[in-house]
Amino acid sequence: MSNQSDKKLGHSTHMNGSPASSDRNSLTVGANGPIVLHDHHLVDTLAHFNREKTLERQPHAKGSGAFGVFETTQDVSKYTKAAVFQLGTKTEMLARFSTVAGEQGSPDTWRDVRGFALKFYTSEGNYDIVGNNTPVFFVRDPMKFPHFIRSQKRLPDSGLRDNHMQWDFWTTHPETAHQVTYLMGCRGLPKNWRHMHGFSSHTYMWVNAEDERFWVKYHFETCQGEENYSNEEATMMSGKDADFHRRDLFEAIERGDYPSWNLSVQIMPYEEAKSYRFNPFDLTKTWSHKDYPLIPVGRMTLNRNPENFFAQIEQAAFSPSNLVPGIGLSPDKMLLARVFAYPDAQRRRIGSNFHQLPVNQPKVPTNNYMFDGNMNYHHSGNQPTYLSDTEGRPYADHTGPIEDGWEADGELVRQAYTLHPEDDDFGQAGTLVREVFSDEERTRFVETIVGAIQGVRSPVLERVFEYWKNVDQEIGERIEVAYQESVKAEK
Ligand code: NDP
Repeated sequence: MSNQSDKKLGHSTHMNGSPASSDRNSLTVGANGPIVLHDHHLVDTLAHFNREKTLERQPHAKGSGAFGVFETTQDVSKYTKAAVFQLGTKTEMLARFSTVAGEQGSPDTWRDVRGFALKFYTSEGNYDIVGNNTPVFFVRDPMKFPHFIRSQKRLPDSGLRDNHMQWDFWTTHPETAHQVTYLMGCRGLPKNWRHMHGFSSHTYMWVNAEDERFWVKYHFETCQGEENYSNEEATMMSGKDADFHRRDLFEAIERGDYPSWNLSVQIMPYEEAKSYRFNPFDLTKTWSHKDYPLIPVGRMTLNRNPENFFAQIEQAAFSPSNLVPGIGLSPDKMLLARVFAYPDAQRRRIGSNFHQLPVNQPKVPTNNYMFDGNMNYHHSGNQPTYLSDTEGRPYADHTGPIEDGWEADGELVRQAYTLHPEDDDFGQAGTLVREVFSDEERTRFVETIVGAIQGVRSPVLERVFEYWKNVDQEIGERIEVAYQESVKAEK
């Protein structure tokens, strides 16, 4: 029913498109009487409200992002034939930044690793880099990943986060030392997303037009300058504005102050992986810049805010399985597991046809045999749903070695990577403490760890001191002494 006041307000519709009679008053038996069940507009409104949240990501729940453009400014065609990385190519893209452990609504300025997820809508399909603001990660075998994440989340009884649980996991798994050093250093508290670097962390493969293969690591260096918060500033901001990083990015783009990052890569010739001093596929290690200097590639600039946070950020689905010709995976076990885990998370979180949503949809025509499923939208009409040589629908049929593959052979085993000459759990963490941190950073590092181990109980506490002495004898001793002093001061 339409009346004068509807015209003033404009009109809304039912789900079937017919005009809704009122978004203000439910249908009742007389003004004071009970609500009737056949007020389907009320029922639809309430029922949909109950379902309006999608599952939050586990982990990386709290984040935000923006759209932009990536421009390749250097000729790297001798390393990759990927269209996105050909000189002069401009590609639309989406970036999402996040914390790892915190849930939706948790403060942006808690000490944590930050997610740095990128989606490039290339002319050959979507290419995603699902990185972090750190060049390494805590564990190198995906079997440990859920254990690691749970140790950073909440206790089963109180629902509280717990230092003891975090350090218990870290000290039980010394491969975490490099990433924990990075995290407890000044870069564990980025001032905001615009002022932090991003890394692929993983090693990927690049393939050029001659089918030559290279191993590659991506480094996105902030053009705004690298800046961090002190513990005090971050704590203050957690209370003042839990959404500080989300707000900072949105407002910067609104005022036309578009943040950008320069992309460089480290390139390792294919054969050198076998003899490099560190296992180049071990996610807890970096490749030294002295061995593999940074090679400039291009620049990404974020210049467009989402119009709808839920549709374009919450439902954005990134995955390292989104690859394009000229770019492949590597034997990094964490990467190989993420290729399964990410799309699986999206199928559960968003639905089996998550890739059909506008934010996730490639900008190129698609033709695949994933048929029907919940909320199917881009269907294949009446084309055959099976491989057919008679009905004319194309299908892929490559056989033999793949261009972005590598050799693997051996008995099936459950075993850590074979060691390269300088592989150990503590060496690179020690280099970071001794050769990269300044005196002031080392002092802050000790203070941060002493703060972070409050509440840690024996025998984990003793293991913490041992862990840091293994990273660097002197820093371990300083942490132990500073901790004992903090205990005395408490009494
Ligand atoms: P380099 O001296 O060539 O590189 C040092 C790296 O450390 C630079 O990328 C620098 O980033 C970064 N850095 C500077 N201050 C800090 C900090 N407070 N926290 C974390 N990173 C910082 O040496 P190598 O390449 O031989 O690496 C030495 C150590 O540096 C490694 O063991 C690793 O821990 C760390 N590192 C190495 C990276 C790599 O990819 N090789 C990347 C980041 C850290 P910036 O250029 O912004 O100053």
